[in-house]
Amino acid sequence: MDFSIPQATQELLDRVREFVQDELIPLESVYLQKGFGQMLPVLDAKRAKARELGLSIPQIPKEYGGLGLSVLDHGLVSAELGRTPIGHYVFNCQAPDAGNMEILIQYGTDEQKDKYLKPLLAGEIRSCFGMTEPEHPGSNPVWMGTTAVKDGDDYVINGRKWWATGADGAAFAIVMAVTDPNAPAHFRASQIIVPMDTPGVTVSAITPFMGHRGEGWASHGELTFENCRVPQRNLLGPEGAGFLIAQERLGPGRIHHCMRWIGICERAFDLMCEYAVKRQVAPDRPLASRQFVQGWVAESRAEIDAARLMVLHAAWTIDHVGPKAARDNISLIKFTVANTMMRVLDRAIQVYGGLGVSDYTPLALFFRTERAGRIYDGADEVHKISAARRILRRYEDVSRA
Ligand SMILES: Cc1cc2nc3c(=O)[nH]c(=O)nc-3n(C[C@H](O)[C@H](O)[C@H](O)COP(=O)(O)OP(=O)(O)OC[C@H]3O[C@@H](n4cnc5c(N)ncnc54)[C@H](O)[C@@H]3O)c2cc1C
Repeated sequence: MDFSIPQATQELLDRVREFVQDELIPLESVYLQKGFGQMLPVLDAKRAKARELGLSIPQIPKEYGGLGLSVLDHGLVSAELGRTPIGHYVFNCQAPDAGNMEILIQYGTDEQKDKYLKPLLAGEIRSCFGMTEPEHPGSNPVWMGTTAVKDGDDYVINGRKWWATGADGAAFAIVMAVTDPNAPAHFRASQIIVPMDTPGVTVSAITPFMGHRGEGWASHGELTFENCRVPQRNLLGPEGAGFLIAQERLGPGRIHHCMRWIGICERAFDLMCEYAVKRQVAPDRPLASRQFVQGWVAESRAEIDAARLMVLHAAWTIDHVGPKAARDNISLIKFTVANTMMRVLDRAIQVYGGLGVSDYTPLALFFRTERAGRIYDGADEVHKISAARRILRRYEDVSRA
């Protein structure tokens, strides 16, 4: 087994790391003070620079202007970008736009690609994804209340969505709505593109999130649809395929999140070690001399390395065997890495003491925003149950044979 990184990939990773280190990390203290909205002009200038350097949309096929990276290689890039809260936005591979780009490439008509995909890839607009609803469990995505009823050449959409990341300021939403309530559960809903200036759709609230409201891409919106009429040609993919397309979107998406979280772990680990050797608890007695801290360093290193190998193996399985073969791996990494990240962040914050919960380092921001990683794209419990069921089924098959 060869663990070495190919030279071309390593060169790309070095360039990305340099960009993150030189261009983005110096912006963090202002970002932490001012937030996304006030920083937008600066972030967009950095975006333009990343694009000029040919580093933008790394996960997108070359024919669409991206770098055409495999899931594995994009995972490695994602870990570099994850070291800072603004990395993915600046490289235009942030959720939910990255997933929306992928499904538009796969299922979009020529008209949909011209109108929505092209400006999204160029970073001229943003989008959001509306699946989760306040009145229905997001953990059971085949049960939802939003409907899209055919009327003439249109769909008329009614319902409510929430937690639509980046809805504030998005140019369009991809919305899951029930188009055939009588179909089998997994074929009831479809994905429909709704331009956000369509009459009848509003961002009715920004959901307050761990003590903050956020804005723009760094916020989560509630969408209300009241007799919102869009042409039937805005259907994305076949009617009734909404759930299947969502599953396809979430597979690589979970790898991207997990590798971004590995990036957060690595940053937190670096910050923890740098501070541990610097901070004196008594003259000539740095924190690093204390066994508690040494234990946290060793445990964190082991847990990050284990998590990283699991994610890279899942990405390799998708690239070489296919997404179906990676279903167990994806469920297992989703809850493993989210929890590893929270433990590593918690230890790093503890090493920093009061400074750790201040906004003078990115640790508190990571801790606050990334707790949700144990909930979105499938809560821990749901992934544990589905992986365990599939594993146990194989034992039943063997015992029956
Ligand atoms: C920061 C953030 C960003 C998000 N972005 C988006 C987005 O862009 N678009 C979008 O559509 N949605 C988004 N979501 C929504 C997210 O996908 C849902 O929150 C998630 O699917 C869980 O659904 P729920 O909140 O309705 O919780 P529920 O489904 O009500 O579940 C509540 C809890 O019950 C437990 N649970 C659920 N099912 C089971 C089970 N079978 N067995 C045991 N325990 C169970 C879990 O612990 C779960 O946390 C986002 C959420 C957050 C927090």
